[in-house]
Amino acid sequence: MPFLQPPALWQAVLGELQVEVARASYETFLKDTRGAACEDHRLTVVTPSPFAAEYLQQKLYPLVKRTVAKVAKEPLEVRFSVAANESSTVGVSAAQVPHESNGAHRQHGLPPPALPLNARYTFQTFVVGKSNHFAHAAAVAAAEYSGQKYNPVFIISGVGLGKTHLLHAVAHRVMQRGGSVIYTSAEQFTNEFVTAIREGRVQEFNAKFTGPDVLLMDDVYAFSGKEQTQERFFHIFNELHQSGKQIVLTSDRTPMELTSLVERLRSRFGMGLIGDIQTPDLETRLAILRSKAEQRGAPVPDEVLALLARRVQRSVRDLEGTLNRVLAVAEMTNAPVTKELAANALEGLAARHERQVTAPGDLVALVGKHYRLPPDMLRGPSREKKIALGRHVAMLLLHQELGLTLSEVGRVMGGRDHSTVDHACKKVERYANADAVLRADLVSLREALQRPG
Ligand code: ADP
Ligand code: MG
Repeated sequence: MPFLQPPALWQAVLGELQVEVARASYETFLKDTRGAACEDHRLTVVTPSPFAAEYLQQKLYPLVKRTVAKVAKEPLEVRFSVAANESSTVGVSAAQVPHESNGAHRQHGLPPPALPLNARYTFQTFVVGKSNHFAHAAAVAAAEYSGQKYNPVFIISGVGLGKTHLLHAVAHRVMQRGGSVIYTSAEQFTNEFVTAIREGRVQEFNAKFTGPDVLLMDDVYAFSGKEQTQERFFHIFNELHQSGKQIVLTSDRTPMELTSLVERLRSRFGMGLIGDIQTPDLETRLAILRSKAEQRGAPVPDEVLALLARRVQRSVRDLEGTLNRVLAVAEMTNAPVTKELAANALEGLAARHERQVTAPGDLVALVGKHYRLPPDMLRGPSREKKIALGRHVAMLLLHQELGLTLSEVGRVMGGRDHSTVDHACKKVERYANADAVLRADLVSLREALQRPG
């Protein structure tokens, strides 16, 4: 028998472990444990949840055992047992599959995914460039070191820039390693939750989302305004987070700012990582096009790729769409893919885009909203830095997005002449090259203009 009583013995062990274990793990898994009994050279430690018991058993057992031996001055087996209101116990043998009190939990292998995965969306087919390397690295870390490095991982970008692609890539990689994932969208999650409530199956619903090793949730902005679903999601999120399971979320950027949900998550789980995807630069756009053309087995001359990459800047989805269109036209007309053919094919596309027009006044209002400035101030004479920036951005977008001439833009913006407008547009473009925030502003404003309604 060790000379200390089990509670005191374990307290001393905790004191040692506190300096050995990462603070987050200690806080989550060790802090609320207590030494309950010591019989037959076996110390029983009570944990507050089955997750903590399993985590300690699987991840920290050798360290715990060593520390116990050191403090007790004799080797002891350690057994983690869940507090009385939970019924399960995790045995000492590492080979033993943890037994769970409610059977639906944590089955190993793959539960039916809530949404299907696209087999082509893998890390291999994802082209990494300046615009997305951060988000890519975060996704890789989530897949390779699930729950250990950054949790949650948030991928945020405008539409069509690769969020879903990265999420699927994480799923494929985790499954390859023998882990289990659940992939869903906020919308799907909401629908299932509503059904679960109606059918009295909320517990089953919980188990489905907390069971797998990794939860991947696409498009979380769809939660905004759905309070009850958000609450449930937070609950599940907490449970996953505490048991060291990886969570990866994606969200569109909204024109204003990140949604309240994202903010809320960020303030509560600040240890996560936000991976941002910007619109790809020309070089990356070219590389993506080249890769897509190769995947389709279609030989496309470099000059055509360059033409497409220059014309379509906003989203990779549009980029891919244009390539597909060009290839389709070539196939239908049985002609080789040349620059001329591509230019023709693109003309139709441009015409289609022009049809969805925003009124100049609405554009100015949108920019005003984005910078939290009244539109009149943007049109007015003030040279204050922030106001001038908003004004210049509005001018650029009126010119580039609505196709107004420089003089027309001048007229809309409070009667300025065309050279002033020209100067302003060039200035914004020059600044945007060096200033990521301004670039992000432009991306989200352009997206907002694309959005119907
Ligand atoms: P999002 O979810 O951000 O709206 P998606 O992930 O659906 O965007 O991407 C749109 C399309 O663009 C997909 O076909 C995807 O494969 C492709 N894509 C986006 N980024 C890349 C990239 N870096 N490399 C290769 N393909 C990409
Ligand atoms: Mg998506």
